Amino acid sequence: MVELKSCPFCGGEAQISTDTEAVKDTMGRFWAYTVVCSRCCATSGLTYTPDKAIEAWNRRESK
Ligand SMILES: [Zn+2]
Repeated sequence: MVELKSCPFCGGEAQISTDTEAVKDTMGRFWAYTVVCSRCCATSGLTYTPDKAIEAWNRRESK
């Protein structure tokens, strides 16, 4: 598992969130995973694996 960095906007603690109402696409991918800052509610956007959510989130740190 990749390390989840702190929020690039406010430095708050980030966590993985799973959208239980997400639907599968035609490829069978479940677009339910996102990383959300617990302080300012910034998000990475939805992805279909937790790892991809973390990657998307960590990319935000470097402009
Ligand atoms: Zn934040």
